[in-house]
Amino acid sequence: MDPIPYSRQEISDADIAAVVEVLKAPFLTQGPAVERFEADFAALHKGRHAVAVCNATAALHLACLALRVGPGDLVWTSPISFVASANCALYCGADIGFVDIDPVTRNMSVPALAARLEEAEKAGRLPKVVVPVDFSGLPCDLEEMRALADRYGFKIVSDSSHAVGATYRGELIGRYADISVFSFHPVKIVTTGEGGLCLTDDAALADRLRLLRSHGITRDAAAMQGANEGAWYYEQIDLGFNYRITDIQAALGSSQLTDLDDKFRRRDAAARRYDDLLATLPVKLPARLNDRQSAHHLYVVEVENGLSRKAVFDALRADGILVNVHYIPIHLQPYYRALGFAPGDFPASEAFYEGAVTLPLFPSLSEAQQDHVAERLSRALGS
Ligand SMILES: *Cc1c(COP(=O)(O)O)cnc(C)c1O
Repeated sequence: MDPIPYSRQEISDADIAAVVEVLKAPFLTQGPAVERFEADFAALHKGRHAVAVCNATAALHLACLALRVGPGDLVWTSPISFVASANCALYCGADIGFVDIDPVTRNMSVPALAARLEEAEKAGRLPKVVVPVDFSGLPCDLEEMRALADRYGFKIVSDSSHAVGATYRGELIGRYADISVFSFHPVKIVTTGEGGLCLTDDAALADRLRLLRSHGITRDAAAMQGANEGAWYYEQIDLGFNYRITDIQAALGSSQLTDLDDKFRRRDAAARRYDDLLATLPVKLPARLNDRQSAHHLYVVEVENGLSRKAVFDALRADGILVNVHYIPIHLQPYYRALGFAPGDFPASEAFYEGAVTLPLFPSLSEAQQDHVAERLSRALGS
């Protein structure tokens, strides 16, 4: 059997045709496909404002900037995420902190968050922004976090990079965060090659995200400080970046969204099949909760009973099953240790990391491939 990656994009003939059409059109960037992609994404999400950018790392950075995170401010995120969830705070000159995970959902724990907020209030150092992460595509406890945000006065930037198409309490995610961030990297649910997006209910925040996406430059006379001197005229009114996404990418994104339901159904079927195939093995499986539906970006099992994760990982890799590990806790990265974090700071995250193995999961994963993964995993576990 050919090697099986942990994730892979799915590009249809329609996706290819959509990209080719842009390549023949007048605009490769700053043309109509970006607005169309934003409108398509917004339409899926109750007409919320969508601002597409060059990747989700940039989206996280802009989200923090739009919420005016700066030096002296504090941002908290989950240790079990990609480093970008924390780096965005440091880009703004803010300080970073972490809140440990719930071992069942592997997302930021609400009781841990509540406890840390109580302490932080006493110490007079509350976070300005909290960045919960919908790990593996399973939505966070955002309604409860919203209540804490309203009580303590922080904003929520949800890192929903894994969770395009996930639902929470009856609707697609996006309702409870101030800004939700999505990634369109090829390993994720929907791809634009590289790409990211900020989703928000706040029109003024969306305007600020757009301004910062393109150098802080405006061509909107209403936003200018001086008189509009003519059709050539623009003003830089803030310090922004070139974080734009191209029309080529956006056209791919719009096309990818058209069969999101089908991609989800196949991911969900594969996840359910793993749940059955692996039920009797000594591994902890991803949680299924009644009030939310994971987008199933990742299928992560935890090796239990003192068995060696490394031995299991190495055996599967040797069999051409290209398992991965998501994630090394961010606070254990050398860069973060140099900021003062240390092993033992977030025990649930560290315990999760010790056992975590990401199995292959993507829409085109065949039943034969899955059976092979399950059989080799069983063998690697000695069961
Ligand atoms: C992929 C990912 C990012 C970064 O996304 P890019 O689009 O690659 O910049 C951020 N956070 C999480 C949780 C991710 O998985």
